[in-house]
Amino acid sequence: MNITTSSLLANLNPEQLRAVTYPAESALVLAGAGSGKTRVLTTRIAWLLATRQATVHSVLAVTFTNKAAKEMAARLATMTQITVRAMWLGTFHGLCHRFLRLHHRDAGLPASFQILDASDQHGLIKRLLKQWNISDSEIMPRSLQGFINAQKEAGLRAGALSAPDAYTQRLIECYAEYDAVCRREGLVDFAELMLRSYEVLHSNELLRAHYQKRFSHILVDEFQDTNKLQYAWLKLLAGGGAVMFAVGDDDQSIYRFRGANVGNMDALMRDFAVGEPIKLEQNYRSVGHILAAANAVIANNQKRLGKNLRTEAEDGEKIRFLHAIDDAAEAQYIVDEVRSLLREGYAARDIALLYRSNAQSRVLEQELFAARLPYRIYGGLRFYERQEIKHALAYLRLAVNSGDDNALLRIINMPPRGIGARTVENLQAAAQESRVSLFQAACTLAEKSPKIAVFVRLIHDLRARIMQDALPEIMNAAVQDSGLLEHYRTQKGEHQERIENLQELINAAAAFKPHESTFETLPENTADTPEFPLLAFLSNAALEAGEHQAGHNEDAVQLMTIHAAKGLEFDAVFLSGIEEGLFPSEYALNEAGGLEEERRLMYVAITRARQRLYLSAAQQRFLHGQRHYPLPSRFVDEIPEELLHLLSGSLNTVAPAEPTRTRRVETLNTARDFAGFAIGDNVRHAKFGTGVIVDALSKGDSARLTVNFGREGMKELDTAYAKLEKL
Ligand code: ATP
Ligand code: MG
Repeated sequence: MNITTSSLLANLNPEQLRAVTYPAESALVLAGAGSGKTRVLTTRIAWLLATRQATVHSVLAVTFTNKAAKEMAARLATMTQITVRAMWLGTFHGLCHRFLRLHHRDAGLPASFQILDASDQHGLIKRLLKQWNISDSEIMPRSLQGFINAQKEAGLRAGALSAPDAYTQRLIECYAEYDAVCRREGLVDFAELMLRSYEVLHSNELLRAHYQKRFSHILVDEFQDTNKLQYAWLKLLAGGGAVMFAVGDDDQSIYRFRGANVGNMDALMRDFAVGEPIKLEQNYRSVGHILAAANAVIANNQKRLGKNLRTEAEDGEKIRFLHAIDDAAEAQYIVDEVRSLLREGYAARDIALLYRSNAQSRVLEQELFAARLPYRIYGGLRFYERQEIKHALAYLRLAVNSGDDNALLRIINMPPRGIGARTVENLQAAAQESRVSLFQAACTLAEKSPKIAVFVRLIHDLRARIMQDALPEIMNAAVQDSGLLEHYRTQKGEHQERIENLQELINAAAAFKPHESTFETLPENTADTPEFPLLAFLSNAALEAGEHQAGHNEDAVQLMTIHAAKGLEFDAVFLSGIEEGLFPSEYALNEAGGLEEERRLMYVAITRARQRLYLSAAQQRFLHGQRHYPLPSRFVDEIPEELLHLLSGSLNTVAPAEPTRTRRVETLNTARDFAGFAIGDNVRHAKFGTGVIVDALSKGDSARLTVNFGREGMKELDTAYAKLEKL
């Protein structure tokens, strides 16, 4: 292009530019890892805003992780200098949560409804099975949990299911009962966030019309991993004629076990009349050897839509592969290498240790700790999933929502206050008989039982505090007045960490900014209620649990599963446990299509690395309480030999090029007039149809315009000759 592109669009290749400035028609970008899909999506939002084709209110953008959503918001803010806080930008769960908070009445939920995370849900299911006298040998709690979530993710309520056998019939009955309990107690599990939002939109015409009118542009990252329900939700929202812009990579579909449906790509093309998908073929992330390895591995899959990926980057170093004696030696090798990378000038946060299964993190963690290297683990046991934190928050959940039986059962005798199992059973019987919540039953029983009276008073006091005190004081009360802190202080055993965590919880409450949480778009009057900060805090704890670990500003080595690393990139990546049985996992090998899914996961893992990639396997591994003697993974064999550097434990490293990345503030001059046209204007041309002005250059009285005509491509036109009509 011989016209100087505006700086917002300056760093894009021609295909990326075409995608970013695509006119107001639905489009699908189908492209491999590191080809700039996320960059295109973010820049397109900025472009739509800067050219006033959309406002922060008319855009809905969905990404897969909270981390990705935050990064996108930050990048948008620098690119556009527009406050994007009010924008509906987030994860499916996050956006549905916001929707349900706003419309809880229409959704049939109490204003103070609480979110059940996976472990809360498991606890509730265990309790219910026990209450129904169903033993583990009849129905395992995990099986029922998996069943319920799978049905919800497929959009199916218990009433819509039919059973092929007696066992499934039981599961369906339990599902129905479970849902009834959640409704009664004002609890919403993760899958329910999505399903309930969908149902409300589906059945409530007024609300649907409102949102369909509101959103003119819907943008979805990682589209290949959407499931049927998520797609149906998007389709409902787009029903008012919104422009869909989806980006994805079929080779990176790794959530089949959660119902991800690559078929959604076909559905999108059909439902939204998308022509050919836009392809991006240049990889900007990885050096040549890494990209070649990724391409070679994924080529072994049969089911692919077919894409090419090339790079202009240098080959870089070979991929190192270590076959260590055991997992401890493997971890030691990794940590030694990390240390030498740090010495070379790599930043700790640009180094990632990825693994197939969470259980692998423990050895790595031990070794990092021993080496005194800062590290952060994503996933695993998160701060808000720790027992002591759950106890403290349960006090507040109950105080804010007295229907939350789950919370009551968690804390009625924690710390121990002499309320035994018998009393709890009586309480449950009384509640069931008079069809009231456990807390209501407790209030009645308090007249006869001084111990229960103490508990009831405690909750009432907390409730009073919630109405008048600030969040840190409320949290302090939940930690202190409840007796929890004292309990851990006086208990035998190692409780120092629990005590510190409880203190950290009070710090977290003090640092929490409710108006910057997912609640920010709530109407003023809702945000002004006394419970608002606490509700925001509790929801945040359930939804964004992983991202609030202690010390999160510290520069630290990143540890996470490959699933959690989706969409992210790091200068150096270590993949450990590349062993048959672990990766590909034993489970996957017994499943139809399982191996291909594992291979896609390997492709995702390899393509996270920019400059250095280290693979490792152990000859012996201690996992899940057993010693294994695995063979190296077939995925290692699938990497061409000339790309690999086989190690026998040696630690020689070569200095890499210094990573240079700078952030530019980009602006777009949309106000200027080019012979009556402006950048971002929609125009019509007799031959090419409708398009958007992407760039312009003044030439005295006329102007030379670059126009994106969508399927017709990018054209340069002179206003002196071309007949262009402004729309
Ligand atoms: P994934 O499939 O892993 O999600 P992706 O297709 O979303 O990858 P991005 O994360 O958007 O890819 O981009 C990969 C890297 O390449 C990023 O660091 C991005 O800034 C950089 N990049 C993308 N396009 C360009 C470009 N035209 N010029 C320079 N760098 C680019
Ligand atoms: Mg991406």
